[in-house]
Amino acid sequence: MPLNVRAAVVHAPNEPFVIETLQLDGPGPGEVLIQVKSTGLCHSDLNAYEGKTPWAFPALLGHEAAGMVVECGPGVTQFKPGDRVIPFLIPFCGKCQYCHSPKTNLCVEGFNRLRPRESHFTLNGKPVSQLWGLGTFADYTVLPPDTIVKVRDDAPFDSIWPEIVDWYAGKKIDLDSLITHKLPLERIGEGFATMKSGESIRSVVIL
Ligand SMILES: [Zn+2]
Ligand SMILES: [Zn+2]
Repeated sequence: MPLNVRAAVVHAPNEPFVIETLQLDGPGPGEVLIQVKSTGLCHSDLNAYEGKTPWAFPALLGHEAAGMVVECGPGVTQFKPGDRVIPFLIPFCGKCQYCHSPKTNLCVEGFNRLRPRESHFTLNGKPVSQLWGLGTFADYTVLPPDTIVKVRDDAPFDSIWPEIVDWYAGKKIDLDSLITHKLPLERIGEGFATMKSGESIRSVVIL
């Protein structure tokens, strides 16, 4: 039975976000259902929103988030319901030549997921793409376990994910201090407007 999920959908580049009820399938074998608790608005999302990074529409954007495992599909043993997790952009498939080397950041699956692929979300039977295989501007999402990492049980949902962005940036910036707006999902368009105008580098949507 698909789950009905509240989500902020972009139907075409630069069109306003629309809060829709999407149908979410899964978790199937090797997949994890996650309740998204907070999600960051990033310039990479803005680039996809504006069509500067090619992507498939209608789209569920969002790739920086924190959430809780709700259900694990068959074969998933490394997570359990209640785990606090962060999705990340570059998977660790564990199978490719790069995952067997110190250069796991070049995992070939990562390049596959930069292209639209099968989505777990539909709107009235029509697919809504998950940005880079993630799609976090929704109350729930389904992800493969190779793109999520468990964090501490007391990790704060509204700010833990900037830590992972800080890693990417080599700790050269303190992203926490750059978060200017905390918004509900219904006001996500305002967050994008402040990024576009340069007023904000990072806003957070609390779900
Ligand atoms: Zn980002
Ligand atoms: Zn790999």
